Amino acid sequence: MSASLPLESLVATALTALAAGRKERGGPLPAATPAEVEAAVDAALAGEALPLDGVGEEEALATLAATVAAGAADPADPACTGHLHCPPLEVAVAADLVASALNQSMDSWDQAPAATVLEERVVEALGDLAGLSGAAGVITTGGTASTYTALMLARDAAPDPVTVFSSELAHFSADRGTHLLGLGEVVKVPCDADQRMDVTALARLLAGCPAGTRPIVVATAGTTDFGSIDPLREIAGLVHARGGWVHVDAAYGGGLLFSQQHRHLLDGLELADTVSLDLHKLGWQPAAAGVLLARGPELFGPLARRAAYLNPLDDEESGYTSLLGRSLRTTRRADVLKIAVTLRALGITGLGERVDTCLELAGYAAEAVRRRPDLQLLCDPVLSTVVFRYVGPAGTADDEVNGRLRRALLASGKAVVGRTEHEGRVQLKLTVLNPVATRADVDSVLDLVVAAGRAEQAR
Ligand SMILES: *Cc1c(COP(=O)(O)O)cnc(C)c1O
Repeated sequence: MSASLPLESLVATALTALAAGRKERGGPLPAATPAEVEAAVDAALAGEALPLDGVGEEEALATLAATVAAGAADPADPACTGHLHCPPLEVAVAADLVASALNQSMDSWDQAPAATVLEERVVEALGDLAGLSGAAGVITTGGTASTYTALMLARDAAPDPVTVFSSELAHFSADRGTHLLGLGEVVKVPCDADQRMDVTALARLLAGCPAGTRPIVVATAGTTDFGSIDPLREIAGLVHARGGWVHVDAAYGGGLLFSQQHRHLLDGLELADTVSLDLHKLGWQPAAAGVLLARGPELFGPLARRAAYLNPLDDEESGYTSLLGRSLRTTRRADVLKIAVTLRALGITGLGERVDTCLELAGYAAEAVRRRPDLQLLCDPVLSTVVFRYVGPAGTADDEVNGRLRRALLASGKAVVGRTEHEGRVQLKLTVLNPVATRADVDSVLDLVVAAGRAEQAR
């Protein structure tokens, strides 16, 4: 067996390969077709993802790290603006390396003594920030897992049958989670003109719910496309009056909690039974950094299981506590470390400034869209997404041109612009999550969109 190289030298190799790959790419994504990306990966693998004899640590790491970096969609590039895909803080990346090196596992105290305490402190601090004092919670793989877990806790909180409601703009993971949990289909509540759940419609639907049925309402604080925030206070009032459960999916909008300027938009969040936050969005963490908060530790009751080899009762009674009962996972990374380092390093102020900067830049982007006659803004941004269409000089460009121009930008390696649909029409989307991006960066992406649109229309 060949000896392993020390971490110091491997990290140096990794950083060199990262820089070389980025340099080779020279933009937000590789200027390549899907087939060309495939060929580059196959070349780096020399056609063998699993050779009989290894090529050696240095060679494998240098080659594959450089290849993936060269072929990456790089959220640190201001023209990479398609998704809720943030540039990670370097301090969080460094902390994540430590988490990997230590390889703590959060399912039992004897696999993660200090990290277990750290997770409890971080969750408590985030619960306080969200106004859910006394909250319990857990670090998750993200909004999808948080909402799934929350729906399960809500389902099992009482024996009576439940019906799940969400707005028509809620994240698809609420639908899939509801289905996976055997709760049927989500009842969709229409949205108002501002893309927020229409509470009058919700009240009507709740009133039509058969007696003895408990409502579970997934409210969204920051819809993925529009950043719109459902009226959380009114929703909580209606749902709690019927003995129901409110889960607030604040995967995107939860970042506003750090902002003195914008946190008022989350009014009513503190009334939720469960809340999901994604710090790999407006929190600048490397994925994954999801957080599920619940009003109190007893809400996690349905997840409690005793495993003789993980959380024996006498250990627990002697103070060797474990977080096994908070998560659907067993082996679980100490994702808390990067989060804790970030919270301590930047504080509420440092994170809030970054949130404010992104929201302000999105406001500028909306103005910049309005200034370009070739583009048509769909609505003013609430958070940091800007949804618009390319209409062209005559205002006639169709869905197909919008689809093609986005792929042309991808193939050119110059910009990653998002794509979605609204009322059956293709829309383009900028998602501003880069706090060091500038107005000039925004203008340059929009100019690229216009140029690509005109080229596609002329075809
Ligand atoms: C991103 C997002 C999710 C999904 O979160 P993951 O971390 O990708 O699992 C859920 N809800 C909303 C509103 C989101 O923006």
